[in-house]
Amino acid sequence: MQKNNSNEAFIIDALFGNGLETPICLVFSSRTCLKYLHEALSTRTRMLALDGTFKLNSLGFPMLCATTLDASHKIFPLAFAPSSSECEETITFLLKSLVKGYKFFYNKTLDINYVMTDCAIYMYTSVSQVYPSIKSHLSCFFHVKENQRKRSLAEYRVSKEDRKDILFHLDIMHELVSQEHFKKYWKLFKEYYSEYEDYTTYFENTYINSPLSKWHFFNTEPNTFLTNNCSESLNAMIKRDWTNRERKPFHIFLRTLKDCIFQLSLEKKTFQSEIEANTNLQIAGANLQSKNLFVNFKEYYFLKKKQEEGQVSMSQARRFVNLTYTNLKDFKSDCLNLIVLKFNNSPKSVTCFCNSGFKYGVCVHKVALEIHLELRQKIVLLVPKKKRGRKRKAAPALSRQEDEERLKPSQKRMRERNLPGNVPRVTITLNKKTSQKK
Ligand SMILES: [Zn+2]
Repeated sequence: MQKNNSNEAFIIDALFGNGLETPICLVFSSRTCLKYLHEALSTRTRMLALDGTFKLNSLGFPMLCATTLDASHKIFPLAFAPSSSECEETITFLLKSLVKGYKFFYNKTLDINYVMTDCAIYMYTSVSQVYPSIKSHLSCFFHVKENQRKRSLAEYRVSKEDRKDILFHLDIMHELVSQEHFKKYWKLFKEYYSEYEDYTTYFENTYINSPLSKWHFFNTEPNTFLTNNCSESLNAMIKRDWTNRERKPFHIFLRTLKDCIFQLSLEKKTFQSEIEANTNLQIAGANLQSKNLFVNFKEYYFLKKKQEEGQVSMSQARRFVNLTYTNLKDFKSDCLNLIVLKFNNSPKSVTCFCNSGFKYGVCVHKVALEIHLELRQKIVLLVPKKKRGRKRKAAPALSRQEDEERLKPSQKRMRERNLPGNVPRVTITLNKKTSQKK
């Protein structure tokens, strides 16, 4: 293993059962893939996704895949395991092989925070066996929702008009800010849909009072995954680009897989561990902060989604934090109309529960609140003052005077855009256009 080319595929470990009572499982990886694993384990979030893909070979053997994402949500393959079945034993074997491969090359124990799988209980059992110290075993929200949409809602005879609303409520519950908020929402939801008691009981048993209950924002931290999208897209890519959607004879399939791992490793993608707010976002954040719209109650800060409507009322903020809702409609409308941010004391940081803010860990609201709380420097944008009259004719290209002027841009002709606030500032000067220069 140690000597070969870093992109070459190899087998970390193999399980030789008879394919019936005892499964077969071959775990493929490459040094580059294990390097991705190492990089993923060096980040704050340390996450891993597992999934199985079918219809790849004539034996009907599924292939289990372990993947991860970087901060910009790029996919990184870690290991592929063609197996005689997708079950507790094979998943456990794949996870143990990853531990083994990682130990071999990096001499470290594999310490993971989050594992994402689709909603299968045997995956849960395997993961908790191999990684007993993980923070959360997350369930893919996409699968939770699809299971309702395609099957359960119809099975429990929920009327067609109500199905769409229920799925919409699920989206809201997915994005809630705390377990208490979810508990309250679910209570009101059950009351509202009391006619579908069978359905709500089923949902409660399967996705709330069970190991598969972790499909909410509050179960994880910003910029981790909440769907198994990365595994799904890798699977789709393999089928599209490599197997041509055909079931190949097993030996040919293995050769294709080997080439596929080699090619994927050749790509030499860079693993991005954190996303920083770019200058445009920082300027937008400074703009939002200067409007002074934040309303604070306890550790939460609120904004209206439609900022032109002004501030959130104190009573609305209080009602959201203290959960004094008496009906589902009010709670739903607050969830839809408010941007909720939470201040975390140690280490001092801000979490925004808006969709993109949670998905990527940065958004304009977060930047604005960080400036407001003086956790971040404020960017002040200086814009050249507009000139009256027609544009001047172009000056000689190599004039010495012009060079001097470029070195010391006169501050007099600048005006500031963001005025209020006593926050420490960083100043950025926009480059003047050549035509305006003289
Ligand atoms: Zn946000």
